[in-house]
Amino acid sequence: MKIVGTSIRLKIWLSLIVKNIMGKFRKPCLDCGILTAGGNRCDEHENLVQHLHNAKRAAVKKLTGQYSGDYQKRAKLVRETALVCHLCDSGARFDDPWVADHAVPAEFGSFATLLPAHKSCNEKRGNKPLT
Ligand SMILES: [Zn+2]
Ligand SMILES: [Zn+2]
Repeated sequence: MKIVGTSIRLKIWLSLIVKNIMGKFRKPCLDCGILTAGGNRCDEHENLVQHLHNAKRAAVKKLTGQYSGDYQKRAKLVRETALVCHLCDSGARFDDPWVADHAVPAEFGSFATLLPAHKSCNEKRGNKPLT
């Protein structure tokens, strides 16, 4: 009788320990090794990683926006308001559409600006900088 009682108590005790261990099962943070309750990182490092992801996303968005939105808008405006080709100094030609030439004036170093040019004039110039 005494032996049976002890064995039941032992089973309950063991199941409580197992529950306790499973409930407190923790993984170490990938960055600092502090044990965390679920997830791969402690709260502090999880926030930091999220912050970095957001910053990276914002930077990429800003960069692509520069080239898709604003650049395209500026190039369109240059084409639509073109009066004189900046390469040959003559006006519009029926079979030579305007393009926005990505001109880099020598005196401005790396500063680039968009100027209207005939498609053929722009193709003739290629990638040579302005003189
Ligand atoms: Zn951490
Ligand atoms: Zn021209």
